[in-house]
Amino acid sequence: MSCSKRHLKRLFKAKKEFYTEQLAVKNEASVRVRGNDAATENIAHCNSFHSTNATREKLPLKNFFRDKIKAWQIKNRIGHKSLRELLFILKEENLDVPLSPLVLLDLKNEEVVIEHVPGKYVHLGLKNQIKKIESSVLEFNEIVFDINFDGLPLFNSSRTQLWPILIRIVNIPNISVFPVGIYKGKQKPSDIDKFLSYFVNEFQFLKVNGLEPGGKICELKIRSLICDAPARAFACGIPHHTSAHGCSKCTAEANKFRNTLVYPTKVGKIVSDEDFDLRRHIDHHQIGFRTVKTPFEKVNLKMITQVPLDPMHLIDLGVMKKFLVRILKNKLSYEKRLCVANKKQISDHLESLKIHIPKKFVRLPRSIEQVAHWKATEFRQFLLYTGILVLKDKVHEDVYYEFLLLHCACRLLSCSKNVHSNLKNAEDTLKLFVENFPKIFGDDSVSYNVHSLLHLADSVKTLGAIQNFSAYDFENYLQN
Ligand SMILES: [Zn+2]
Repeated sequence: MSCSKRHLKRLFKAKKEFYTEQLAVKNEASVRVRGNDAATENIAHCNSFHSTNATREKLPLKNFFRDKIKAWQIKNRIGHKSLRELLFILKEENLDVPLSPLVLLDLKNEEVVIEHVPGKYVHLGLKNQIKKIESSVLEFNEIVFDINFDGLPLFNSSRTQLWPILIRIVNIPNISVFPVGIYKGKQKPSDIDKFLSYFVNEFQFLKVNGLEPGGKICELKIRSLICDAPARAFACGIPHHTSAHGCSKCTAEANKFRNTLVYPTKVGKIVSDEDFDLRRHIDHHQIGFRTVKTPFEKVNLKMITQVPLDPMHLIDLGVMKKFLVRILKNKLSYEKRLCVANKKQISDHLESLKIHIPKKFVRLPRSIEQVAHWKATEFRQFLLYTGILVLKDKVHEDVYYEFLLLHCACRLLSCSKNVHSNLKNAEDTLKLFVENFPKIFGDDSVSYNVHSLLHLADSVKTLGAIQNFSAYDFENYLQN
């Protein structure tokens, strides 16, 4: 062993001092620890460390544990080899230190791969990533951002998937979406607390102490969490959208009808942020989160108003796709069915529109026969632009009227300038669309997405036009 006896004594003294400090911090903190899982307890322990410090006066970074070790290393001229051994011991005790001496001494960015059963996680860091765009944020006093995460298959031939935590800054123009942490594994992350712990801890710290781009304090704010329905259920600790209590926005319950889960065409009792916080509708929370806060509640995110229904998955890949697939598969009453000749005419008409589509559109229209392979942006183009032309006189008039209802409502909700004055009209139009849906497509057709249209206007009230809180930017980033 290369360490002398004296040196080891110093290491243990430093560790003892740290444990004494942690014990005092733990006594002050009131963070609830879920279950007996030791790993979960360590995360909560880590949270308590940050949140307790957060409630103190704003402390300069040098007072924190890492800086104490740095100062100790410099004072005693500890070599990197010995320092690495100390960091390894502390890391084994689940303390918040990097494994690399270079990272501790700020000679290298912290991108440490962490075992995160059933995969691995690397935390790139909010602070590190914002540092890269420092020149763009210098003149702003606050940075407001949206968060997104979702599973992304890496290869067709394996189950390996990525789960990046993505950030979109909304109050500063021309900044691309960037990741702050990435999970990789053969299955999705098993525990939302662990998956988000590094992000939540860092955000809590920066929220209190501020970020200092160019030496100026800059406040950080989360505007909203934007995810598809499965990721939203995972993040919010709510039942999956394919369960009876899957709607987090109201108390409506879905019922089984011919082996299909069918949602009501009317809104139940509206759930408020306070209702969610106080767990007033207990069936609308996963068992593990009925007495325990979810990670985003720990950073004071309002779980109803700041977690909108993402229009890309809800409308374009959800209701619009279902609408077209049902027509193509003739899943509607006999007299409303689409004949083969009209199906071909719709496809031909769409193909003929290619030459009229401006370059701003990333995709050109293609045959309706290929609807199973359409991308979200193609459904959006059909809904807002081409559908109104190609469906006219080709589908039954009731079907066309139903399409017009959705077209008009989404047009009104997409107009940034007049969205608030149009809100009541759009809301009423969507109500009519949802009420009519089972009359056209059958009693088993009202899915979670169709029902959720009834809540879309509420998100528009707080976040503006639907493109403001759509997942398109995140999806584009993931494609790249
Ligand atoms: Zn609902």
